[in-house]
Amino acid sequence: MARKIVHYPHPALRHKSKPVRTIDKELHLQIGEMKELMYLAKGLGLAAPQVALPFQLLVMNVSGDPKQPEKEEVFLNPQIVDKKGAMVGEEGCLSFPGLFQDVRRFQTIKVRAYNLKGEPVEKVVSDLEARAWQHEIDHLNGVLFIDMMGPVARIAARTSVKQFEKAFREAQAKGEIPADLEIEKVLAAMESMH
Ligand code: ZN
Repeated sequence: MARKIVHYPHPALRHKSKPVRTIDKELHLQIGEMKELMYLAKGLGLAAPQVALPFQLLVMNVSGDPKQPEKEEVFLNPQIVDKKGAMVGEEGCLSFPGLFQDVRRFQTIKVRAYNLKGEPVEKVVSDLEARAWQHEIDHLNGVLFIDMMGPVARIAARTSVKQFEKAFREAQAKGEIPADLEIEKVLAAMESMH
């Protein structure tokens, strides 16, 4: 498999995604890889920037169970169009493995997106599913859950965040990961792909 999940502070995670304009074979291949990576990492959702793809694309299975493919969903160009209520609960992110902190989210949201047939879909989701949606849509805008933490969670996460930064810069220094500018160039070149 060519792609892998990138970790903070990989520049793709701060890159604002472009809408998907064409549903082609390449997109299907990328979605297949994203689903596989999501299940391998035992996540409930994965957004394209987490595999260094600059597109408004996410895969989700809130059961987290590959044996429940009927719960598997793919969404293109999703938007939150309505929201209500609030909830605080623990959240994690596949781009910050091992870091879990409380994040405040809307309890119920209405989302609009396109499915893989290019048809518009609209749904109202609550609780865990609403949390997953908000987290993944944030990714498409370059927003990370560390940005959404309250002051107490943020302080608690600080050491861990610094460790991610250190590990990433060390991997770049060893040449295992390209320099930020190189990554940005590749992302910009890919933007016209779909
Ligand atoms: Zn995440």
